[in-house]
Amino acid sequence: MKAPIIEIFSSFQGEGVLIGQRQIFVRFAGCNLNCAYCDTKISISKNQGTLMTPAEVVEKIESILTPDCHTISFTGGEPSLYPEFINEVSKLTGLNIMLETNGTLPDNIDLIDNLDIVSLDIKLKEQFNGDYKEDIFLNEIKSLNLLIEKSINVYCKVVILPSLKIESFEEVIKKIDKEIIYKNNLQVIVQPSSPLNEWKNLSDSLFEFSEIVGEYFEVSTIPQIHKILNIE
Ligand code: SF4
Repeated sequence: MKAPIIEIFSSFQGEGVLIGQRQIFVRFAGCNLNCAYCDTKISISKNQGTLMTPAEVVEKIESILTPDCHTISFTGGEPSLYPEFINEVSKLTGLNIMLETNGTLPDNIDLIDNLDIVSLDIKLKEQFNGDYKEDIFLNEIKSLNLLIEKSINVYCKVVILPSLKIESFEEVIKKIDKEIIYKNNLQVIVQPSSPLNEWKNLSDSLFEFSEIVGEYFEVSTIPQIHKILNIE
C-alpha cells in the first residue's frame, strides 16, 4: 500500500484547539475540493509528492520524534482519501492521532480507527469560485454526527474572510445547530483568514461573528499562529 506524501515535518499546531502543541504533520497529496483560500494548493493534486508506504512514513516520523510531541496530525490535501493508510501508520506508531479534514467524505472518515481528535472544517459557499455544492455541507454534517456518535473528540473550524457577510455566516451556523445531533459538546473555532493585516479595523466584525456562534455553541476566535511565528 502506498500514498502520495507531500511532506512529513515537526512543528507547532498553528490552528484550533491544539494550538501551540508540538506535532508531527503528515501531509498527503490529493484533495476532493478546491477552496479559493487554500494555502496548500500544492497538495490538491494527487500527482504531487512522493509515493510512500506506511512503514516508510513511520520511519520518517520516528526519525524526527521529539519528547514534546503531542500528536501525529494527518493533514493535506484531504487525508480522509487514505483511511486504510492512516490506520496502518497509526497501528505501527502507537502515537495519538489527529485528523484535519474538510469532512466531506463521511464514509471514508468512518473507516479511520483510533482517532483521538478531529478538526473538521465547515466550508462556506463564499470560499469557492462558484463551484460550491450543497452536498459539501450535508456531508460535513454527516461526518460531524458520525464522529459525535462514536464519542470522538471533534471540533468545527470555520475560516472567515474579511469580505464575508454576517447574515450569510449566521445562516450556516443556524443550519449546523439544526442538523447536529448533540450540540452541547460541540466547540466551534472561528478562524480569521491570513494575512491578519486584512482584518485591520475589522475587529468589531470579529466580535459579531463570535456572538453569533455563541448563541448556539461554545466558540473561540483563533487565527493561524504558525504564520505569525513564521514557521511551517
Ligand atoms: S479542503 Fe483544504 S486542502 Fe482541499 S482545497 Fe480546501 S483548503 Fe485546500
